[in-house]
Amino acid sequence: MYSTEETLARLAGIPNIQVTPEAPLSRYTRFGIGGPCHALVDSGSAESFAAALIALRAAGAPFVVVGGGTNLIVADEGFPGMVLRYTANRLLAAGDRVSAGSGAVLDDLVDFANERGLRGVETLAGIPGWTGGAIYGNAGAYGHSIAERVRTVRFFDGEHVRLFHNEQCEFQYRESIFKRRKDWIVLSAEFQFDPSDPAELCETSAGIREVRNRKFPPSMKCAGSIFKNFLHSNLPPGAASLVPPDVIRDGKVPAAYFLEQVGAKGLRRGGIHVADYHANLIYNTGDGNSADLRAIILELKARVGDRFGIHAEEEVQYIGFDYGI
Ligand SMILES: Cc1cc2nc3c(=O)[nH]c(=O)nc-3n(C[C@H](O)[C@H](O)[C@H](O)COP(=O)(O)OP(=O)(O)OC[C@H]3O[C@@H](n4cnc5c(N)ncnc54)[C@H](O)[C@@H]3O)c2cc1C
Repeated sequence: MYSTEETLARLAGIPNIQVTPEAPLSRYTRFGIGGPCHALVDSGSAESFAAALIALRAAGAPFVVVGGGTNLIVADEGFPGMVLRYTANRLLAAGDRVSAGSGAVLDDLVDFANERGLRGVETLAGIPGWTGGAIYGNAGAYGHSIAERVRTVRFFDGEHVRLFHNEQCEFQYRESIFKRRKDWIVLSAEFQFDPSDPAELCETSAGIREVRNRKFPPSMKCAGSIFKNFLHSNLPPGAASLVPPDVIRDGKVPAAYFLEQVGAKGLRRGGIHVADYHANLIYNTGDGNSADLRAIILELKARVGDRFGIHAEEEVQYIGFDYGI
């Protein structure tokens, strides 16, 4: 039987960890929604982080690992267990390769590579969150995803630190093996780039950030796109035949295309609104809660399912719900 006190006592003996009991998760997520966890446990040391995980397992404590909290919906009731963050954020360059700790802010990795004339992640500029979270969900934008540049990923499997090469990570659109193996924690990754002109790369990223900041103002409490886009080849024939060819980009149909047609834009429930300019963008006006957010998401899934016979799948990850982490 899990005891918070006993678990905190076990953690107290581990060096280089910071423990915040009863941390309100709304403060650690971009949505600004979510009740408390029993404790937030931060560490930038791989040894200490592994020791903390082993201690949590021994205590039978439920736990979840998060990063920057930019792709999370946390239940209003919070998470009845420990929330861990691996905060190591070192960026190191060696020739055309860069290694990054999971806790490195993705945008810092972009700038780091750009400034060194290393081409490959400049179009990911402005995607919020940390490098570990980006690998977990194979984050991407403008036709590129982080997987294209990952050489290796170092992770902790609960017992050992292991190294996977790109193909072992089973990257697909917004998917990786780490999304299926939630007990595996990404510690760092090595990326490989092509030589290029630093000024050009920085200019590309600056342009993308400007566009993104208009679409997602930095103060907006949201998670970017709520639903994954649809692979056109995976759509049932009826739905596929309704999609005009110019809507299909890189073989994908934006979820917003279907959502817009079922009246998503401008939908509201309490402090949760669907943007009136983007059907796949849901935000918290300030006093929103996860119950209303979940209700709107379910409503949209039902509408899209009824009208097109397709299943809209969330890109966003849940914490503290029966069906989430
Ligand atoms: C305004 C806005 C715009 C966005 N635009 C995009 C976009 O263009 N493209 C895109 O792909 N995404 C986008 N996102 C979503 C989000 O930024 C990405 O999914 C991001 O990579 C999440 O990183 P994070 O560190 O915040 O992860 P979190 O939200 O903290 O966690 C997300 C998931 O990753 C897991 N995780 C985190 N760290 C680790 C780790 N070290 N090991 C194992 N699992 C881990 C967590 O358990 C959780 O399930 C956007 C979000 C916002 C708010």
